[in-house]
Amino acid sequence: MTETKAIITRPVANVLDATEITLPAAARAILEIDLNALRANWAKLNEVAGSAECAGVVKADAYGLGLEEIAGALAREGCRTFFTATIQEAQRVRSIAPSAVIYVLDGLLSGAEAHYAGFDLRPVLSSLPEINDWAMFCSNEGRRRPAAIHVDTGMNRLGLPASALASLASDDTPLSHFETSLVMSHLYNADDRKSSVNQRQLEAFHEALKFFPDAAASLSNSGGTFLGADYHFDLVRPGIALYGGRAIENEPNPMQPVVKLTARILQVRTVMPGDVVGYGGTYQPTKSTRIATIACGYADGFLRALSGDHHARGPIGYIGDYPVRIVGRVSMDLITIDVSDVPEELATRGAWVEVMGARVTVDDLTDRAGTIGYELLSRLSNRVHRIYIDGRPT
Ligand SMILES: *Cc1c(COP(=O)(O)O)cnc(C)c1O
Repeated sequence: MTETKAIITRPVANVLDATEITLPAAARAILEIDLNALRANWAKLNEVAGSAECAGVVKADAYGLGLEEIAGALAREGCRTFFTATIQEAQRVRSIAPSAVIYVLDGLLSGAEAHYAGFDLRPVLSSLPEINDWAMFCSNEGRRRPAAIHVDTGMNRLGLPASALASLASDDTPLSHFETSLVMSHLYNADDRKSSVNQRQLEAFHEALKFFPDAAASLSNSGGTFLGADYHFDLVRPGIALYGGRAIENEPNPMQPVVKLTARILQVRTVMPGDVVGYGGTYQPTKSTRIATIACGYADGFLRALSGDHHARGPIGYIGDYPVRIVGRVSMDLITIDVSDVPEELATRGAWVEVMGARVTVDDLTDRAGTIGYELLSRLSNRVHRIYIDGRPT
């Protein structure tokens, strides 16, 4: 058994100096997760949110970065409210944050009430049947347990439609059996600052809040948090920005990168015109070219859509300060890169290649692959050796 996770504690000043970290000899690829950057990102969002509370969205294993480590670091920084997608994720958060407020975005599947109650979790109720089930459970228990109510303001994914609000207004008996601790909705275009949809959803949310004059309110994800004070209400719910991802399109990203992925060179060879490289033989050199095969593929979370020649859009990674580009297809466990311009003593067997980090960001990669940072992060594989960098004095 090799250890797959380690907490590294070191002074804040040089946490990003990866050369100081003793890398395990057996590791073929390493994902460094910088908890200092995570905390700085949360602190920044907390500041942007002004007087509103800043929660942490940690669904999908905290966007792939490790639920316990991420939620633990956020809790130590002062984050008091968490959102998960599933009950199981919420129970894991509870185990490391005993006094946190934890909402489950999936809402309530009938029969699951006791799984919430046992861990003091709060369902995000999205329909009248969910509201009725929670009301019934609380009424039977004789205890007004808290829950959030999700109202739909146009996304048509989850949440009560306006018609359901009207029916609650005419008969609010179910609401009397539990505590509506939060009323929330979700923006579907918040990454586009210019979109008129944001304003429309904001207005619809204000309309919906008239039904719940006393409840705390929350509308914004990461993008919404940057849309200004009108969007903050009592609580903001950022996810992607905590993890360093871009929240607003076509604007500089103010967040610090949290992840860095490095992988080792397994082999270097020279190919000549007439040779091909990789599956499908898609790469055909036109001159003598040095190729390094590195230990990172789509099973590690490196997107297969990054196959081929993306040279025009910048390097795919770095060996030291030398940019490198991918050639041929991404395979399950391997990628091949052109190291012709890298000094031979740097591009050798066992050397580390940075394929994701501050220089080639998650967003750089996903822009080229035609997807989004959310997908890349949440698919990072547990096969990659993880190192959590934590410079916070304990
Ligand atoms: C995922 C999610 C968030 C966080 O969204 P980001 O864009 O990652 O900030 C907030 N609210 C809801 C309802 C979500 O599903």
